Amino acid sequence: MSDTPISNDIKEIIISEKNIEQRCRELAAQIEADYENDGITPLVVGLLKGSVPFMSELIKYFHHAIEIDFISVSSYEGTESSGDVKIDKDLDLSSRNKNVLIVEDIVDTGRTLKAVKQLFYNKGANEVRIVSLLDKPDRRKVDIEADYVGFKVPDAFVVGYGLDYNQKYRNLPYIGILKEEIYE
Ligand code: 5GP
Ligand code: MG
Ligand code: MG
Repeated sequence: MSDTPISNDIKEIIISEKNIEQRCRELAAQIEADYENDGITPLVVGLLKGSVPFMSELIKYFHHAIEIDFISVSSYEGTESSGDVKIDKDLDLSSRNKNVLIVEDIVDTGRTLKAVKQLFYNKGANEVRIVSLLDKPDRRKVDIEADYVGFKVPDAFVVGYGLDYNQKYRNLPYIGILKEEIYE
């Protein structure tokens, strides 16, 4: 392991661990209330890898049965996603006739989620909703919104709580902004 903690690279914490935990409780309560009368067990699908910390926190606060699964797609190239989504790891479970809840780390241009949502409808899902920890509404390029959002963030590159920069910083327990020198 390198001897400098990754927190040294953070200029500013914009969302604390406590705030994220509290928001996850609220989101889980709201989602459960909305799914209450469906009569089918929702399939909660995390988009790897960015959703992992958020998904593990969120599902702790569900009181009713859920199924969980993960999917990995690639689309984010350079500083903006392309909209071409390739499945790198597909679901283990079937999403046919299921009420799918996609768990995502951040909605930026919206291209990834628009494509993934359509993918689940193509696989025969009954209904597809989206919960995203973060939302950058000012960056939207396609017409898609998450049904549930943890926090709106300004148009700055953020890391932590699943979000990476070159695969690093996913394990930070908060959302922060990197020091400028890290990009240089
Ligand atoms: P979209 O298709 O909405 O443009 O891109 C979504 C993906 O881009 C996110 O799932 C995330 O992996 C990546 N992304 C977008 N904005 C940020 C950001 O501010 N920080 C990090 N670390 N990743 C981001
Ligand atoms: Mg992502
Ligand atoms: Mg990434």
